[in-house]
Amino acid sequence: MIKSLTPEQVAFIDKEHIWHPYSSLLDPIPAYHVVSATGVRLTLSDGIELIDGTSSWWSTIHGYNHPILNEAIVTQMRKVAHVMFGGITHEPAALLCKKLVDITPIGLNKVFLCDSGSVSVEVALKMALQYWSSQGRHDKSQFLSFKKGYHGDTLGAMSVCDPHSGMHSLFGDTLAKQFFAEPPGCSFDGVWEEHFLSDVRLKLERCSQTIAAVIIEPIMQAAGGLNFYSPSYLAGLRKLCDEFDVLLIADEIATGFGRTGKLFACEWSNITPDILCLGKALTGGYMTLAATLCTSKVSDTICSGGSGIFMHGPTYMGNPLACAVANASIELLLGSDWESDISRIEAQLSDELSEVVSCNAVKDVRCLGAVGVVEMLHQVNVGEIQKEFVAEGIWVRPFDTRIYIMPAYNISPKDLNKLTGGISRVIRKVFQ
Ligand SMILES: *Cc1c(COP(=O)(O)O)cnc(C)c1O
Repeated sequence: MIKSLTPEQVAFIDKEHIWHPYSSLLDPIPAYHVVSATGVRLTLSDGIELIDGTSSWWSTIHGYNHPILNEAIVTQMRKVAHVMFGGITHEPAALLCKKLVDITPIGLNKVFLCDSGSVSVEVALKMALQYWSSQGRHDKSQFLSFKKGYHGDTLGAMSVCDPHSGMHSLFGDTLAKQFFAEPPGCSFDGVWEEHFLSDVRLKLERCSQTIAAVIIEPIMQAAGGLNFYSPSYLAGLRKLCDEFDVLLIADEIATGFGRTGKLFACEWSNITPDILCLGKALTGGYMTLAATLCTSKVSDTICSGGSGIFMHGPTYMGNPLACAVANASIELLLGSDWESDISRIEAQLSDELSEVVSCNAVKDVRCLGAVGVVEMLHQVNVGEIQKEFVAEGIWVRPFDTRIYIMPAYNISPKDLNKLTGGISRVIRKVFQ
């Protein structure tokens, strides 16, 4: 029997011993203690219920405690919870990989399963490097990324994140040196002009000899600011990568599985990247799992030169529980009317969030798919504003200047209205 703790004991241990994401242990902000969650509601230890506007960092797209997802894990657990993937295969992985090949842009035929989004980015970067080194092109050893991009927290992934948002200066020379282009300067539905790509073109003209791949978040730069950009930009970038003979890595960890209104954001531009990263919503937010897909051209080239093998293999690769719940989540998504769900959410977010535009502290309000963003003029004090949101009965967790909603796709109009209404009231209260 695992012994149980009182909420006070949990709070004490948390404060004394536990790191939270991007947190200080000298001056910890008390964490909210969740005891259960169902649908879009989190229940705290004091019985308070919060409507979740974040879908736990954009992953629980069907909500919490979903009977079908629960069942998928329990059924698989009775067969085999985990088994090594070296020399062994299993049905949940086979089902998942075939499904991913079928639903992602045409041409992505090979799947590498891994543990988390950051690791899938590491895998993508290593695939690109091995693609070139196996052709004797050891000089193609750097990456072209974008300012305001975010690709994860491990060293390789950090090296291609926005260079100014803190992490590069902290880790200095340890990070590999990469190239950074200006972020896409064209809004999602603004008029397209070729010059938006001129900075990328310039960098490729100068440096493509040493560049293995360009890495980008399709259509939405997510954690770097929730900025949407034109599908023409991504289509043009695909052409530039071909022209300058560099690979294109699409990081769809945030955008994949319907979030922007297409199943994958690459579909807005009708492109196939050479390498694709998936994570976050892959398991419907149940377990950590990610995948890196590539074309046969990439895998054939890696495996026919140099070492002849791809050099990566996590201990928990292809975990059967995670694959089983990913299969169930994707089936649930494809079996639902997700396109109307997302457009309903987009319409409601646009309508109801527009109310705060008149507030002086608000810089911009924008929505795409199931993403609604209120960009403030100044950085938000997360600990302070979080208390106000909790008092409104909603869970909203801003970062930097962004207050946003990225809900589960099956959220009811009434619950979504509580989120938008709560955000409006808190903004007017805190920033007037
Ligand atoms: C969240 C995210 C990652 C990192 O994924 P983790 O699972 O947190 O390691 C990478 N790229 C993008 C675009 C993300 O949104």
